[in-house]
Amino acid sequence: MKNGLKSVLTFIIIICGFLYLIKYIPDFKGIISDSNEKTQSVSGNNTYKDDQNDTDIKSQLLLVNEEHGLEQSYIPKDLIIPNIKFTSGVSNEENHVAGIVAKPLEQLVSEAKKDGIILLGNSGYRSYKTQENTYNNRVLSEGEKLADAYVAKPGYSEHQTGLCIDITNQGKYFVKGTKEADWLAKNCYRFGFIIRYPYGKKNITGIEYEPWHIRYVGKNAAKYIYDNKITLEEYLAK
Ligand SMILES: [Zn+2]
Repeated sequence: MKNGLKSVLTFIIIICGFLYLIKYIPDFKGIISDSNEKTQSVSGNNTYKDDQNDTDIKSQLLLVNEEHGLEQSYIPKDLIIPNIKFTSGVSNEENHVAGIVAKPLEQLVSEAKKDGIILLGNSGYRSYKTQENTYNNRVLSEGEKLADAYVAKPGYSEHQTGLCIDITNQGKYFVKGTKEADWLAKNCYRFGFIIRYPYGKKNITGIEYEPWHIRYVGKNAAKYIYDNKITLEEYLAK
């Protein structure tokens, strides 16, 4: 009986001690719910929708290249005209991007402006039909071989995803070494974008260096790709 009472008292003391630790020592509570809180703080720190759920992540990491094409019927959801300046002569289709891209793009352009860099939209979404017309016209004027070298076949242009946009500057001369192209290369990852076709990666991307073509992949993927100097293909294969 005496031993039984001793056990009960020990048990009560242990429980009280545990409750005390949880209530009065925040660090201890943190240890218990650490993984949960980390998840919350990642989305809590973002100022716009980014990497919030698996569907978003999957759709923003959509891969389109020579080997991975899109159906003729593929149209990005929530196509929208972002609130940025476009260069002259942009069609009413090309001034659209997928909904998920608009806010980050607007943020990128306005942050650039604060640094004295004027970035203009040049070509965002292009439908399957538009790409088909471009490709066919090129085949007619230059032959299939040259067309294949310079124009993506319909269904194989990343522009059909609405997740990318070609950027230009006021002189429409957007090449490495211009302050606009250099700013974009250095900063676009902060807004969830990557230079999709970097210099010296044609063997992987299938496309020559294009300093103007940025692709939205979300902030986490963009930072990883930027830090490790890799391509979307390499990121998805890791
Ligand atoms: Zn492009």
